[in-house]
Amino acid sequence: MLHIDPDAPHRWIIRCGQCDHYLQAAGDRITAEAFARTNGWVTSPSTRCPGCATIAAHCRPAEDPVQSLGIDQHRLTAA
Ligand SMILES: [Zn+2]
Repeated sequence: MLHIDPDAPHRWIIRCGQCDHYLQAAGDRITAEAFARTNGWVTSPSTRCPGCATIAAHCRPAEDPVQSLGIDQHRLTAA
């Protein structure tokens, strides 16, 4: 989500729709979106930070990310 910072009218805040990461950018909306994309963010169809965009690109919604990476779940829970 892209919105104007209420404390600074010429600064934009780009928030990831998946986690709590955000990015601040100056200028107009087009410049702010271009700045975000240059820094690895996805702005369409939904806003994702570089980390969440990478996960989304590698995991289909129905997939379990742990299984899709080939990680043995028993090893994760064994302490
Ligand atoms: Zn994110």
